[in-house]
Amino acid sequence: MTAPHLSRQPPPKPPVRPRNWPPPSVPPSSRHVVRMPHRFPAPRRPLAVDALAAAAGLGLGISLALGISSQTVSALHAPGGIATALGRVTGMLSGYAMVVIVLLSARIPPLERALGQDRLIVWHRRLAPWGLYLLLAHAVLITVGYARAAKTGLLAEIGQLLWSYAGILSATVGSALLLAAGVTSYRRARRRMKYETWWAVHLYTYLGLGLSFIHQIDTGAPFVGHPLATTWWTSLWVGALVVVLTFRVGLPLYRSVRHDLRVAQISPAGPNTWSIVLSGRHLEKLPTAGGQFMMWRFLRRELWWQAHPYSLSATPQAGHLRITVKELGDHSTALSCLTPGTRVAFEGPYGVFTADARQSRNVLLVGAGVGATPIRALLDDLPRDTHVVVLLRGTRPEDIAHLDEFERLVTKRRGLLHTLTGPRHTLRLDAPSLHTLVPDIAGRDVFVCGPDEFTRRVVTAARDAGVPAAHIHHEDFTF
Ligand SMILES: Cc1cc2nc3c(=O)[nH]c(=O)nc-3n(C[C@H](O)[C@H](O)[C@H](O)COP(=O)(O)OP(=O)(O)OC[C@H]3O[C@@H](n4cnc5c(N)ncnc54)[C@H](O)[C@@H]3O)c2cc1C
Repeated sequence: MTAPHLSRQPPPKPPVRPRNWPPPSVPPSSRHVVRMPHRFPAPRRPLAVDALAAAAGLGLGISLALGISSQTVSALHAPGGIATALGRVTGMLSGYAMVVIVLLSARIPPLERALGQDRLIVWHRRLAPWGLYLLLAHAVLITVGYARAAKTGLLAEIGQLLWSYAGILSATVGSALLLAAGVTSYRRARRRMKYETWWAVHLYTYLGLGLSFIHQIDTGAPFVGHPLATTWWTSLWVGALVVVLTFRVGLPLYRSVRHDLRVAQISPAGPNTWSIVLSGRHLEKLPTAGGQFMMWRFLRRELWWQAHPYSLSATPQAGHLRITVKELGDHSTALSCLTPGTRVAFEGPYGVFTADARQSRNVLLVGAGVGATPIRALLDDLPRDTHVVVLLRGTRPEDIAHLDEFERLVTKRRGLLHTLTGPRHTLRLDAPSLHTLVPDIAGRDVFVCGPDEFTRRVVTAARDAGVPAAHIHHEDFTF
């Protein structure tokens, strides 16, 4: 077995490529890093998590209390009474869960800064199936309860509910849309479909929720004749809608118009990898940090309807931003054909893979392939007194995007740069090999970004090498 090529400075030289950063259009006098007004510091995590848990717990308690208090003892003893009561409680819980599920993916900036979008999406994914199970239980229990009360068959009761009760038909259509989103999100189903198809099905969940809301207020026992309960529930749902519209539509629209981003330059950054420099207005007012990503929408006929996440590969400089994209599928490949002047809309910045996450003054930055891009931007943004060791992995030196810039920045910081090249099967990435490269690794914060398997291995190796879990930070390129 051949050993992977490991080098300390100076690393093997990648082929010379035209420089795109700082942008050549920027006059030499202004080629300094414009200090961005650092985005608001991330709130202390435990505080944010505690506040969130307390608010969610309070809402859950109120919903449960409303569901239970709408029962009477005599109704419970009537035929079908228990099933109907359980149906009402599961309906309230399902409705409440739907609001929380929507809010978890609403990209609320303070929450996003405290917890990170990837963690919020993990919670969204874990809670969503329970919302759907409760929804199904609600539909079945109410049908059974009403059928027993009316002493009729289940099918006859379904017909009765659909055609005689206000809002039940639209709620059924809404539930079908919610279930479709749930089914298409199962890993096996999702792997078989294009991301864009999955996304479009997911978009219909908002319609599904809207359709199901009407029957809750019009026919729900906790609300009929209870104006206070109706006001609380309506405020909860309308509030969630306002939050979604504000942070998923309003804020991105405002920022896109304000900063007026356009493609300025496209140049190769490695095999099938492109650097895209964007110019814009007032970029010093964009609250971003190295290591963050944005959802990019390139306003060209065939691309405008898709927004894809790409990390900044340098912090903004003199009116310019840069992303670095590896061709993987249709969207990333199409970007190499963009023409200068193309308008760009964006959502974000998002992510907690930033200098704010550090717990110590010494860091190890690890990047593989195009995963080196947020690491490159992070390097711009770490405070001057941070001691950095950078470990970059690529099959060949030219596979490591922006290697020349890494060299320059690491030298400037008097840090250490290791490049790890060679075929994958020759690479050992375990605790002893990390320890050999970085003997003081246990006292450092470790930032990792790369393909899933690579990231998992580095995270495990770092833990085994004694790095506390709270000092390990990773960015995942798969949602
Ligand atoms: C937080 C984050 C930061 C990223 N930063 C970079 C970067 O700096 N440079 C880079 O080259 N790549 C980056 N990626 C990966 C990049 O988003 C995907 O490679 C790209 O979206 C693939 O789209 P496609 O149409 O070319 O390929 P497809 O073949 O359509 O997709 C390939 C895979 O990418 C994922 N994907 C596709 N579209 C999206 C989407 N809109 N949102 C989320 N995931 C999607 C899917 O899991 C899919 O299986 C990042 C991803 C994430 C989540």
